[in-house]
Amino acid sequence: MNLARQIEEYLPQHLLKLVKDISGQAANLGQRAYLVGGLVRDLLLGYPNFDLDLVVEGDAVKLAQQVAETSQAKLLAHHRFGTAKLRYDNFTLDLATARKETYARPGALPAVTPGTLKDDLVRRDFSINAMAISLAPNDYGELVDPYQGKNDLEHHLIRILHPGSFTDDATRILRGVCYEQRFDFEFEAQTARLLKRDIPMLDTISGDRIRHELEHIFEEDRPELVIERLGDLGVLDRISPSLKGDGWIAEKFDEARRLKKPAQLPSLYFCLLVYSFSKKDIEQFLARLNIPAKLSRAMRDTLRLKTSLPLLNKPSLKPSEIYYLLREYEPLVIQANALATESTTIHRYLQLFLTKLRYVKTSLDGDELKKLGISAGPKMGKVLQVLHKAKLDGEVRTRADEEKLALSLSGRS
Ligand code: ATP
Ligand code: MG
Repeated sequence: MNLARQIEEYLPQHLLKLVKDISGQAANLGQRAYLVGGLVRDLLLGYPNFDLDLVVEGDAVKLAQQVAETSQAKLLAHHRFGTAKLRYDNFTLDLATARKETYARPGALPAVTPGTLKDDLVRRDFSINAMAISLAPNDYGELVDPYQGKNDLEHHLIRILHPGSFTDDATRILRGVCYEQRFDFEFEAQTARLLKRDIPMLDTISGDRIRHELEHIFEEDRPELVIERLGDLGVLDRISPSLKGDGWIAEKFDEARRLKKPAQLPSLYFCLLVYSFSKKDIEQFLARLNIPAKLSRAMRDTLRLKTSLPLLNKPSLKPSEIYYLLREYEPLVIQANALATESTTIHRYLQLFLTKLRYVKTSLDGDELKKLGISAGPKMGKVLQVLHKAKLDGEVRTRADEEKLALSLSGRS
């Protein structure tokens, strides 16, 4: 099957030109280049995807160097892996030397040697991701589909390429469910059976790799569908026994996406995911996924604030009281709690902090207090603090109000 016409229609002009340039340059070097992976799948599905992924029979780094010389691209080459990234102003292009992989043991990173396109496709996760389109001038646009990926796309099936696939790399369990939910496909019968059988193989996967797949899931339009399904399959349990993929998560993820100004959405999802965890559960989870320090802190703080929320459950708190309770938390943590709380009072206070209180500043600063004759030091600190509190609580409004209060506090009025 030849897809040359479809490529013309699918790719924006600048990418099409680039692909054609690369095709020519590869041929000049005596190499063959192919489009592979998600873009081929999405082109056949008619979904937009402009992540250009190329596999080269030959030397991808050499080809990338040459392409970089003739275009405005920044080159990032990994000689050892035979891969290169070309960074343009508003997109990137990945080139990889076709590789052959062998797994020393389940879950380990594979040993890699140069290979053919076929070798490169056989190591992939699912048939729908194991297709390529030739860019070689003599068969430009030809679909290479050794595992009948196109047929599986048409039948809405997710299929592994060999029975050992999930044991070689159990992250494919997470990836498979992600595609199943994204495209509303089904697992082919044997794939479904092996997926369930191999769930315990997730224990062989490093924290970084599991976290990476969760991050991938959190980029989906509706990650809660993937999380719920992983829960039903018993995958979440295997990663951490306290992880749930229930209706609560689905509801809160959905609400998080509707926020007008969400904090970093993936981080917010992480904080909501652990909202029902005990102190012990969360430590185990952070360690299992090797969560980086900054996100770990936000997730721990989310639970710490959760335990303090009852302090906010009073009908008439002063703005300054709300402020002092919340000022030590970053907006992400407060947002997670605002989404999670069942109390409308608490929700209102958390929102008040996020939208107003955290931005309240006094009109006068230290320099201006000096001009009023208040000298720098602990006393000035105290004056500034009182001014800020009065401003929060609406006891001072104008600059003149603040000056008056400052002078009376310093005994100079
Ligand atoms: P997405 O639209 O989710 O980005 P994608 O197909 O581009 O889909 P990537 O995670 O970007 O997925 O990976 C690119 C390609 O690399 C995949 O199409 C697949 O062929 C291959 N791949 C990625 N991860 C694995 C894995 N764990 N095992 C085998 N092949 C993989
Ligand atoms: Mg991709």
